[in-house]
Amino acid sequence: MATNRKVEKLLSQKNKIERELREIRENCNHTQRTIKQVTLGEGCQTSTRWVCDNCTQVVGYPTKNELKKFLGSTI
Ligand SMILES: [Zn+2]
Repeated sequence: MATNRKVEKLLSQKNKIERELREIRENCNHTQRTIKQVTLGEGCQTSTRWVCDNCTQVVGYPTKNELKKFLGSTI
């Protein structure tokens, strides 16, 4: 059975988008960072990370103090 045309088209678009994102992220210096809640994997589990403002790449873990400050400013 042939793959659904629409699925095929969407998958090829997805590959193209992922490749472009990877290229942008590889060329980014991640100089502007913000602590944000990010979704990990497929589930709805979120975690707090340093995220690049420019390319949205996760660039690190916040320290306990940074986390406290972040949580304090959002409540
Ligand atoms: Zn970046």
